[in-house]
Amino acid sequence: MTPPDVTYFRKGFGLKQEVEATLQADYTGRIVDLMRARDFELVSGDVTIRLAKEFGFCYGVERAVEYAYQTRHKFPGRRVVLVGEIIHNPHVNVRLREMGIEIIMPGEGGFDYSGISAEDVVILPAFGVTITDFNILRERGCVVVDTTCGSVLNVWKRVEAYARDGFTSLIHGKHYHEETRATASQVEKFPGGTYLVVRNMDEARDVCAYIEGRGDRTAFLAKYARSSSAHFDPDLHLKRIGVANQTTMLARESMAIGEEVGRTMAAVKGDAYRASNFRTFDTICSATQDRQDAVNALLEQPLDVMLVIGGYNSSNTLSLAALCAERVRTFHVEDALCIDPARGTIRSRDPVTGLQGDTPDWLGQGPVRVGLTAGASTPNNKIGDAVARVLATCGIDPATIR
Ligand code: SF4
Repeated sequence: MTPPDVTYFRKGFGLKQEVEATLQADYTGRIVDLMRARDFELVSGDVTIRLAKEFGFCYGVERAVEYAYQTRHKFPGRRVVLVGEIIHNPHVNVRLREMGIEIIMPGEGGFDYSGISAEDVVILPAFGVTITDFNILRERGCVVVDTTCGSVLNVWKRVEAYARDGFTSLIHGKHYHEETRATASQVEKFPGGTYLVVRNMDEARDVCAYIEGRGDRTAFLAKYARSSSAHFDPDLHLKRIGVANQTTMLARESMAIGEEVGRTMAAVKGDAYRASNFRTFDTICSATQDRQDAVNALLEQPLDVMLVIGGYNSSNTLSLAALCAERVRTFHVEDALCIDPARGTIRSRDPVTGLQGDTPDWLGQGPVRVGLTAGASTPNNKIGDAVARVLATCGIDPATIR
């Protein structure tokens, strides 16, 4: 019988109870608990704050953070190293550093594992890592604690199947995002496996134009050099296409991209060709979908402004902010500290232009209805801090909220 692998763990260490109290202390929040109990609404003086019914930490993030805490608990005397940020939230990553977990960040050529020895314990983040990174770490002989989210693993299975069957994986995502890099690398498990990443519908239309024979090969290769497999050739690799997506993209756009590419293939080569040479599968994760649905429901209610909390590099937060900005004046802040009650200002990122700046008097005068949501990597205590600062901006002492 093969002995159990004692250097690879992906289901935690059964230490949930041991870390539960610390997790609660680090990430739960009184104000958010209060809002949940009051049907996601808080009214005080002239201010009404409405919280989306799904927001903040998703199951994948909760699991990854818990496993990181369990790992620290399990190996108190060992060096513990995290490959990049566990999730895109600065507070969580700072907290992990305070617990003595080192975070290595990628350089130009990717991660440098030369300092990792067999004695070390290495945590892989919720986004996963590329096949190359994974293999290097396994060769080092260190303990690997893999927190890759199950929903990301589902996308990998899809992309693997495309590569195995000779389809190019067309991935709706951001080519530089950790998750998409890891997902795209899965095609390397099969000889000739190929991928192309498109960021949005405009880029998907480049693909459609090429299928229609309107593309310029040199320009296409130049534009997508960083978003495709090294050997990608649009003349060869746009004949059989399987669509997948980064789990945190805007679901509506992902579906539209799949439909557009499929429709184009059918228009150029016929329905029978499309049936055997085009596949699509929605790989948006349920947590992302639930948050987008909840924000759409919230936007049905009358609101004066929408506040979206989450890192500026957090893909699911950017998707939420984009949805909100279509319907109401929206402020995307990376942290509660962006709200300055003393000055009455907010420092935010414009969801359309991406520019950051301060806005004075952002809540105006008189009654105001504020919608609120947060990305999957924002803990409840930080959401509560933002609520407290909104109240303080309106002259209400958050401590009086009971
Ligand atoms: S956003 Fe979705 S895929 Fe990403 S960690 Fe959360 S549940 Fe998993």
